[in-house]
Amino acid sequence: MGSQLKIAKDIIKEMIKSDKIPGAFIFEGTQNAGNYLGSEISCILAKSIVCQNTNHKRKYGESCGACESCLKAEKNIHPDIIVSEADGDGSLSFHIDKVRELINGLYLAPNDSDTKVYIIKDMQNMTPQGQNALLKSIEEPPPFVVFIITVTDCDLILETVKSRAVKFTLDYNNSTIDDKSEIKIPEYGDIILDILSENSDKLTIYQKLSAKFFEKTDKSEILRFYSHLENALRDILIAKIFMTYENKNELISFLYFSDLNSEVKKLTNLYSTKKILNLSKKIHEYKANLDYNINTRLNLISFFSSLGNLT
Ligand SMILES: [Zn+2]
Repeated sequence: MGSQLKIAKDIIKEMIKSDKIPGAFIFEGTQNAGNYLGSEISCILAKSIVCQNTNHKRKYGESCGACESCLKAEKNIHPDIIVSEADGDGSLSFHIDKVRELINGLYLAPNDSDTKVYIIKDMQNMTPQGQNALLKSIEEPPPFVVFIITVTDCDLILETVKSRAVKFTLDYNNSTIDDKSEIKIPEYGDIILDILSENSDKLTIYQKLSAKFFEKTDKSEILRFYSHLENALRDILIAKIFMTYENKNELISFLYFSDLNSEVKKLTNLYSTKKILNLSKKIHEYKANLDYNINTRLNLISFFSSLGNLT
């Protein structure tokens, strides 16, 4: 577990040095100790983000400990570090009114620093209504906001929230290593690689998919497909960020792919960050349109014909 923490700290340092801070972090600690580490590291990260000594941050990737922001953060009185947590303990104790309170202040500019940090503690206790209310803010946060989420078990938070964040797991035991070494073939694996590769014939892929999708009359299958595609893109983005890092295989927690194989590596070269974000946004829109658009066939055709413009 110690090494997990060290790796997380090292990555965060690199992010601070390069001033490339993602909009959302998740620290997962499935055991008590892991949970504790999650709140410790959130604190370190929040302090580094609000520290105003840019030269120090660029050089060391951490807070200086001496500027006005650092001193306030140390005393837990920094106005731009906002902690949101449940009133009580136990599942569903993190109510939607707490989330609304958070969202209400979200668009107010930071006070002392350039960035506001929202630490959301123990998200596993947040009600689904609360998570849904928060979702939009995490998807499209104001440019000056960073979310730091701690959770005991990532399975307890919405997939859509997870897919927007960089996730670190702070527990590491033998069973997770075993899980990782097991090769799993993701659903729609070949098709998704095909879609994302440069010169594939989109019409053939569409025909293959439509045969499968329209066996069923509901939209569940096509929604699943879009979600897999979103997760695959999120993996490519994470892989891009961590590719240069020495211990990268331990760092990247994939949502869709099982590991950083040669195909994924190829895609990280093929896709710029901008292209990944554009495509993710497009998929998001098509998913949303499914709610309004009764004709799922039209949705899929139009999605595939739009892919031509992306590559
Ligand atoms: Zn400082």
